[in-house]
Amino acid sequence: MEKKLNGQVAIITGSSRGIGAACAKEMAKAGATVIINYPSAKSKETADKVVSDIHKESGKASGIQCDVSKEAEVIEMFRKVVEQYGTVDILVNNAGLQRDASFTDMTLEDWNFVIGVNLTGQFLCAREAIKEFLRRGKTDLSKAIGKIICMSSVHEVIPWAGHVNYAASKGGVMLMMKSLAQEFAPKKIRINSIAPGAIKTSINEDAWDTKEDVQKLLKLIPQKRIGVVEDVAKAAVWLASDDADYVNGTTLFVDGGMTLYPGFEDNG
Ligand code: NAD
Repeated sequence: MEKKLNGQVAIITGSSRGIGAACAKEMAKAGATVIINYPSAKSKETADKVVSDIHKESGKASGIQCDVSKEAEVIEMFRKVVEQYGTVDILVNNAGLQRDASFTDMTLEDWNFVIGVNLTGQFLCAREAIKEFLRRGKTDLSKAIGKIICMSSVHEVIPWAGHVNYAASKGGVMLMMKSLAQEFAPKKIRINSIAPGAIKTSINEDAWDTKEDVQKLLKLIPQKRIGVVEDVAKAAVWLASDDADYVNGTTLFVDGGMTLYPGFEDNG
């Protein structure tokens, strides 16, 4: 297999499980050294397992604890990675969560918690990554001096009642990504998003844990299958590689057609 990310260093936030872990594994297969970020000591064990799985496949990986919503921790994570590996070439801004509530019951804490991780966390990591790309400049490893992939969601465009904090965070990610891409494309930095639809992970377990839930969910997916983490991870490798060198400031929907208004499938 051609190693399209050979020699590059990739930080993948929230990669001790789910979509982040899959992105880390695919990027390691493509030759990148991957940094498995996890938020607290509680997820260290699962992060260590991802690192050891990658080592077993002869990939390069190490783990680092950092809560992406905390500025000092993000700055320290980038400092340590640059100290150990020389630079960072790729950031996958993946860490994200939900704390759902009907709007009138949503507390300020529910709002700030989700915005803090999903949007502010992506801002802090993107800022540190871009500073490092600009400091280091061009290398022979890639046409761009750096690549950022923001993990968005179909809810950057699909409104989601009962999840206003989450939808607002992903809508925010969309315009943050586009504004950054506009600012830094002249410096040869590529910034894009992936918007997954329904991908089977622990974030959305209640949407697929019974047969009835699955049937209900499949009505929203024209392709009639729930996504798997590899669907997203393969797209992430492509977006980070020079094969996508002319792709900048866009969202790649990996959603089995969820954004195609499936309610109109049968004449509306
Ligand atoms: P997941 O819950 O399995 O993974 C989320 C990861 O983020 C976990 O590893 C968690 O430890 C980490 N995380 C949470 N808070 C963090 C923090 N403060 N600092 C660092 N890491 C933190 O869920 P997932 O489905 O793998 O979600 C990954 C991303 O994909 C999220 O941004 C999510 O919004 C997005 N997404 C998922 C789906 C889906 O269907 N699974 C759909 C659309 C978007």
